[in-house]
Amino acid sequence: MNPIALCRENGFAEAFILPVAPYEDWTRHRNGGAFHSNADELKDNPADAYPWANACMIAVWAYAPYDDTSVVAAYYPASNAAYHAMTRIVRMLNEAGIQAERAKTPFRTQLLTAGIGTKMDNQLWYYPPYGTYTHLEGVMLKLNEPVAFTPPHANEPVCDHCGRCDKVCYGALNGGRYDWHDCIRSYLETVPIPARFLPELTCFFGCQRCQDVCPKNPKSFVPVPDGVRAALDPVRILNGELPKALQVLGTNRKKQILRQAIVLCANHRRTDALPTLLRMREAGDSPYKSELDYAIFLLQKEKSMVK
Ligand code: SF4
Ligand code: SF4
Repeated sequence: MNPIALCRENGFAEAFILPVAPYEDWTRHRNGGAFHSNADELKDNPADAYPWANACMIAVWAYAPYDDTSVVAAYYPASNAAYHAMTRIVRMLNEAGIQAERAKTPFRTQLLTAGIGTKMDNQLWYYPPYGTYTHLEGVMLKLNEPVAFTPPHANEPVCDHCGRCDKVCYGALNGGRYDWHDCIRSYLETVPIPARFLPELTCFFGCQRCQDVCPKNPKSFVPVPDGVRAALDPVRILNGELPKALQVLGTNRKKQILRQAIVLCANHRRTDALPTLLRMREAGDSPYKSELDYAIFLLQKEKSMVK
C-alpha cells in the first residue's frame, strides 16, 4: 500500500514523506509563549514521542475560498473534512499492517525545514498552485526501509512583502511578525470573544482576510453550498436549529457556535433576533453575557434608527 496514493484517493491534494527530524527552534519559541495554547499538546521531540516511527507523512488538503465571506470561513469545513479523511487513512494503513498514528507535530515547521513550500509574511505556509488555502494533516509511520523521502521542492520565495496582509489585519501581523494575542482566530474556539474583536467577526470561524488580500493567492472562489448557508443562519441557530449547524460544521462545540451566532446577528444587523436575544439575557446568568450585551445594544440602536 502506497501511503501517498492513499492520501490522494481520500481527497488530499498532495502528501509528503519526511524524516523524523527534531525542531528545537520551534520548541524554544513555543516554550517562550510564541504560540497559542493549542500548540501545548504538540510533541517537543518526535523521535522521543514516536520512537517506533521512521517517517512522518504530511498531507495537504486544498480548498477554494467562498465567494460570500459572511457565512463561514471556507477553511473550517475543509479542515473538518481533512480530519475525517486522515482518520480513515490511519485506519486503512493499520489494517494493511503499516504502523501509523496521527502525528501531533508542527506540520508547517516540518515542511519548511524539509524545504517544501515557503513561508509568507502573513506567517502562512504557501504551496503552488493552492497558495495558502490549505489545511495540513500528519501521520507518523513505520515504513519498510529504505524510506523514499520527498526531496526539497516548490520552495522559491513567493512573498514580495507588499504589506497588504499587514494593512487588512486587526493588529496580529506586523512587518512579517505575528502575535497570536491579536488574531481573532485565537479566540473562536474556547473563550469569550474579547470585546475588541466583537465588531470584527463577520462569519463563523472567521477570519481569512490576510489570505484573501494576498496577490499571490489563487483568485478562484466557489459559491457557499445552499445547505451550508441555510444551516448557518445565525437567527435560526438561536431559535433552536443549532443541531443542523453542528452537523454541517461537523462539531459538537455548542457554546462556541451559539456565542458566534449572537455576535453575527449583531454584525449582520439581524434585528429579527432581538426577541430571542432578550429572552436569553433575561434567563439569567448566561455564559454569553458580554456577547448578548453587545448584540442587544447594537440591534436596539439599529431598530431605533430605522424607526
Ligand atoms: S499580502 Fe503581500 S506581504 Fe502579505 S503574504 Fe501576500 S505577498 Fe506577502
Ligand atoms: S486571520 Fe485575521 S486577525 Fe488573524 S492574522 Fe489573518 S487577518 Fe489578522
